[in-house]
Parts: sequence; structure tokens; C-alpha cells
Amino acid sequence: MAISIDTPVQYLKGVGPKLGEVLRKRGIATVEDLLHWFPRTYEDRRAIRSISSLEPDQYVSLVADVIGVRSATLGRSRRRMYEIIVADKTGRIACKYFRVPYKGYFERFQPQDKVRVVGKVTEYRGRIEFHHPDVHHIRDEDEDDDALIPLYTETEGLSPAKLRKIIDTALTALMEAKEEPKPKLRPDQDPKYLPKPERMLVEPLPEWICSDYKLPDLPNAIREIHQPPKHTSDLFLNFKAPAQRRVIFEEFFWLELLLATKRAGLEKEDAPALKCKGELVGRLVESLEFHLTGAQQKAFKEIAKDLAHPHPMHRLVQGDVGSGKTMVALLAAVHAAECGYQTSLMVPTEILAEQHFKNAVKRLEPLGMRVALLTGQMKASERQEVYAGLESGEIHLVVGTHALIQSEVKFKNLALVIIDEQHRFGVAQRMSLKEKGLSPHFLVMTATPIPRSLAMTVYGDLDVSIIDELPAGRQEITTRVTYDSKRPQVWDFVEKQIRNGRQAYVVYPLVEESEKIDLKNAVEEYEKLQARFPDFKLGLLHGRMKPAEKEEVMNQFRKGELHILVATTVIEVGVDVPNANIMVIEHTERFGLSQLHQLRGRVGRGEFKSYCVLVLGYAVSDESRQRAQIMEKTSDGFKIAEADLELRGPGEFMGTRQSGLPGFKMANLVRDLGILQEARQAAFRLIEKDPQMNLPENHLIREQLAHKQASVIG
Ligand code: ADP
Ligand code: MG
Repeated sequence: MAISIDTPVQYLKGVGPKLGEVLRKRGIATVEDLLHWFPRTYEDRRAIRSISSLEPDQYVSLVADVIGVRSATLGRSRRRMYEIIVADKTGRIACKYFRVPYKGYFERFQPQDKVRVVGKVTEYRGRIEFHHPDVHHIRDEDEDDDALIPLYTETEGLSPAKLRKIIDTALTALMEAKEEPKPKLRPDQDPKYLPKPERMLVEPLPEWICSDYKLPDLPNAIREIHQPPKHTSDLFLNFKAPAQRRVIFEEFFWLELLLATKRAGLEKEDAPALKCKGELVGRLVESLEFHLTGAQQKAFKEIAKDLAHPHPMHRLVQGDVGSGKTMVALLAAVHAAECGYQTSLMVPTEILAEQHFKNAVKRLEPLGMRVALLTGQMKASERQEVYAGLESGEIHLVVGTHALIQSEVKFKNLALVIIDEQHRFGVAQRMSLKEKGLSPHFLVMTATPIPRSLAMTVYGDLDVSIIDELPAGRQEITTRVTYDSKRPQVWDFVEKQIRNGRQAYVVYPLVEESEKIDLKNAVEEYEKLQARFPDFKLGLLHGRMKPAEKEEVMNQFRKGELHILVATTVIEVGVDVPNANIMVIEHTERFGLSQLHQLRGRVGRGEFKSYCVLVLGYAVSDESRQRAQIMEKTSDGFKIAEADLELRGPGEFMGTRQSGLPGFKMANLVRDLGILQEARQAAFRLIEKDPQMNLPENHLIREQLAHKQASVIG
């Protein structure tokens, strides 16, 4: 039977229904899936290693004997760790696992088994060990080969050698298969009913892209990745081989092509062109008690220029905590109002909505603008009033939470949609808000700087303004990492500051999975703290409280009636209390770096010298410690974001798996930034030349894009 890339795997020679099922469970349904099941890494069998010669950070392949398998619980948590201890003549080393690859994984290993361990040597407390290495039994079939061997994610019921054999079968069959001629259309036939031609393994990219970006052709690249040529070990191990670059390029290319087409589509939509003298904006600027920073002015200029076009603006404003993004948003809203249009400003939390609302009222009402608040917690009658004001056009700016995207909300002439702290919103919400108006202009502001690679993927359809300057006179925040055992000293320090008239935040982590336990922690710790500080007034703020209660606590803290605010991360975004100058973060190891940066940004907002104390929990890993230390070294949000992305990966960085982040099979947003830039450029060039992809050289691309759309975005 002729095979195509759409052939179900089970029809491959040597597979059959049973193995087909094993593969299908792994997400490998078709030959195409199989060929894109890329090796996790490679094993270089030519370099013979002994345990005593291993150095940290080496990537090695090692032959050894199993001594035993054991498991232990980790610290005080209930998580289990497994260890396979292996040895050779020169020493022994532990292979540690913090999760079980699959059921029965460890049961396979018996003392004296001969195994091959492949992985990166890690140093922990002065000793070397492996974390999650590949360990497999040495069988004769694997061992006659002295080349670079691809290693795939372990799959139960499928030996690595067998998987390599199936892939070889598929590759050989595909390379031999000829592309079938396209069926001819008879004059009386509707093209819809023609059988789809089989899709073969062919080069989809037009020639100019392959030559401009020096890409080897796809079929050969895929073959090389599964069957690397000899003497290329370093390149393949480091994901720097041309074949890998080719596949990575293509992964990025499909995504960027989607973004480029989306972008081209948006540019065709009509939006109100906001052109007016800027007299009102001038009055707002004059009324401020400070001067706008150069970066704020530049960002607003870019925004005003976009707003003057009859096509919707799509712009992301990135700026570090405290760089004054809110003011830029208000300038834009005032500009829209002067031109006769409405603005909606959406924020992720009630607290923030109220804070922005108050700020906007204070700044904009003197200019004669009407500002309203809309949240889910308001009484129905209050909401009705706001709906009416929006529909009649009396309200110029509405600040709110998700309540803004409910269907009751209708605007008279919405021209500008601003989303603050976008990070917290899903992409879907971002889109549904957009649909509210007639293609309004669209401005996203992120509190946490986003690494360039993410800006080019997750926000790849947006233009970017960067506010890279803090208002003058901001205090440097002194940051110290400390330990569980040092808490008494921390509290002494907090006490001293409070006696000097300042206020403090103490933050506890709140992870959704264990919200109840964490909440209990926060409440318990609150009580302990109250006992430690009998003279001070403490407040507790957490996500389970009713909004009115939260608001009450926040207000007391803002007014200085509370000395210490014990909180979960609900205070993370945007809260502004200039008199608070200490941020103590408990269980620092449980926060992402960007989150820590956000939290730290809650202090240093006034004239007082400010401090951030990062307390690490009991028995944390070296990695957690190093991570926390990054916070001591830099206060540059962009640098922190890069480090965070590198340490935690894009999914965690974005805070949610459903963040609109594509899953890549080989590409890595940190390692492959250069390739991403090239792929983006190629995709945007292509769409600029041929927006509908009508040229014959782009037909394959158009076809494949339709096919991939679901998987790239999903
Ligand atoms: P963020 O970028 O974190 O959202 P905000 O907009 O909340 O920052 O601004 C932080 C504080 O700085 C606010 O109190 C705001 O009024 C003030 N601010 C904004 N711009 C300036 C400026 N140019 N000079 C001085 N203070 C400013
Ligand atoms: Mg803000």
C-alpha cells in the first residue's frame, strides 16, 4: 500500500493494531505524528565515561550496573522521590526522579542489571547525581551501533529500538513514494467533491525562504533528526544541527504566519480615526503634580499616532512596575474623549478596578469627563445605571473587571479598549471584549515585562511600546534573601520600621490546587504574627473574602489604620500605598520570579527607603536559592522576566496553560530566539508579498496552514 503522511500508524509494516493503540495513546495517530515525535536528546556512545570522571553539567552516556532502587519522601511534603543507584568500577551515582515516568518504570530494574544512563550530570550539595536521566537496559540489539542514537520519551510497551525501527520504515516508504498527480477536474464536477490528494512528505516552503534563510529541505531534515549522520554529535546534542534548525524554523513559521495573516486582516478593518487638537490631554498633563517621563511621552505619541488611523490599533505597552503605565492609559482615554468617543479600561481584580477608578475620577473629572466603575459585585440597580450611561454616551470612561464583557454592556461609541495587567487575562477574553465595539482600537498594558520571544509569539500580532524609564526620584529597593530560621530577625526589623511610622506587607503563597491548606496557612500565620506584634494592628487579605471585606481591609491599610497587611497574592497587581516600605515574602521558592518582581513593586512607591525580604522555606533546593538570589542582583524587570522564562518555561511563565501559548515539539523559546526572529520575518515578508497566499509558490503553504491551524494554536 502506498503511504502518505496521513496514513494511520497502525498500517505501517511491523506495527499493527496493538502497537498502533500504544502509539495512539501517546498522541501518535498518523505517520506525520510519528515523524514529528522527535528525539528528546541523543546518546553519544563513542565517548566512554567512568563515574569518577564525571563533571557537573556534562551531558553523558554511561554504562553501569544497578545497585538498587529506593524511594523516600521529600522534606516535609508528601511528595515522593525515587532513586536508581548505579555503579561502575570507579564509583556510584544516584539517578533521582521527582515524578514517576510511568507506572512500573522503577520495577523494571533489579540489582546487577546492566544499564545505560544518559543524562546531564547535576551537582547537589557538593555531590554529583542525575535528575530524570534516561535509564535503559542494555540489550544486544542496541549495542552494535556506535553512532549517535536518538532517545525518545520513554513509552510503556514500546522499546526504543522498536520505535527507531518503525520510524525508519516510515521514512523509507515515504522517501520512495512518488507524489500522485493531482486529480483532474471535469467541467461538470464541483471541486468540493474531488478526493483530497494524499499529502506527502514534501518541502512546503517556497524556494526564496529556503535560500534566504539557508534551510535544508524538510524531508531530509526530518530524516537526519531521526537518523543523525556520524560526526555531528555536538551539533545534535545542542540542537544546533541544520536539520534541527530547519524543523524549529518551521514550527515558529506556522505560528508567525497565522499571526501575520491575523494582523493583515485586522489592518483591513475600519476603526474610528481619532484626530483632535489634544487640548484636553494638554490640560491633564498640566494638572499633574509631576512631569511625564520621556518614555511615557514617547509611548503616548505612538498610541496617538495609531489612533489617528482609520484602522484599529493593536498595541502592547510594556513597562516595569511603577513606570507609570496607568497614566499613559488615562492620556489615551482623554484623547478619545476629546475626539468624542468612549473608552473601556478592563483590569483583572476588583481591588485594582476600584483603585484605577478612584485615580481616574480624581484626574479626569476636573476636565469635565464622566468616569464610571463596573464590577460584578455592584448592585444590579447600580449596574443598570452604568449600562444606561454607556449606551447614551454620557460616560466617557468605564473602568471594570470581567463584568465589562457581559452582553448587557452596550456602548454608544466605544473607540478604545484598554486592558491592564493583561497577563491575567486569557486570550479568549481579550478577543471577546474586542467584539463589543465596532473594531475599537486596542491597547494592552502588561505589568510584567515579557521576554522578547514571548512578545513575538503570544503577543505577536501586536505592536509594542516600551516604557523603559522610571519616574525620577524612585528609591532603589534593598532586597535580601533569608531563611526560615532567621525569621525572628526579620520581625525585629519590621517592628523597627513600623515604629518609625511605616507599614509592611507579609505575603503568603496561594496555589490553586491547595487553596484550602494555603488559606489555613495564611490565617494561622496571621494569628502568629498578631501574637508577635501585640501593639500593632494587622489586617488579613485573601481571595476567599467578599469584595466588600477586601475593600474595607485595603482602605484601612491605605489610610494607615493597619500596620501590617498579611495577604495572599491578591495584592500582586497594581496596589499602591506609598507609606508601605517593607515587603516580606514567605515561601519565596513557591513564587515565580516575575511574580516576586511584581510583589516587590508594591513597595518603593513613596519617599521612604524600601525593603524586600525573601524568606525561603525549610529545606529548599539549591535551584530555588539561586533563583531567589537573582532578585537580590537585579531590579530590571526585563532581565528578571528572561531569567524566569528560562527557569520555568513559557507555560508557567504565562501563569496558565491556557494562555494562548502554542506547544512546540522541538522549538524552545529561550534557546531558539534567533530562529524565531528569522521565522517571524519570513512569515511577515510572505504575507506582505501575497496576503491571500494566492501565488502558486504559496499554495502548499496555504493548504498546510489550514491543516495546522488547529494544532499550532491548540
Ligand atoms: P504601573 O506602571 O506599575 O502601572 P502606575 O501607573 O501605577 O505604575 O504608577 C505608579 C505611581 O507613579 C502612581 O502613583 C503614579 O501616579 C505615579 N507616576 C506616574 N507617572 C509618573 C511620573 N512621570 N512622575 C512621577 N510619578 C509618576
Ligand atoms: Mg499598573
